[in-house]
Amino acid sequence: MVIALDFDGTVVTHEYPYIGEDIGAVPVLKELVAAGHQLILFTMRSGKLLDDALAWFERNGIELYAVNENPEQVSWTSSVKVHANMYIDDCALGCPIRFEDGVRRPFVDWKKVREILVYNRVIAE
Ligand SMILES: [Mg+2]
Repeated sequence: MVIALDFDGTVVTHEYPYIGEDIGAVPVLKELVAAGHQLILFTMRSGKLLDDALAWFERNGIELYAVNENPEQVSWTSSVKVHANMYIDDCALGCPIRFEDGVRRPFVDWKKVREILVYNRVIAE
């Protein structure tokens, strides 16, 4: 499965243009990669701010398949929408989010995301 993944508020807390705090995404993302899924970082970040996000994936040992594109879709569409089988984004309706005292914006609840991934048989229990 190809999974498009937002960065700010999704894999870390919202601290744009800085890198936010850990919110429990790392072990789940590692599970996804280990299960053979391909992660596309799908973010508004560009230039140095994108490099900072890529460095976060590198530091955490999470392999990305692509960044802001699906290299395979050019063979069947000229659309700019990045094709994926699933999108994980804190702004997506239905994405489980967490509110935390003192934190400006809610962020993805990875415990609940993992439960959904297991329920949908994307990863094993
Ligand atoms: Mg976001």
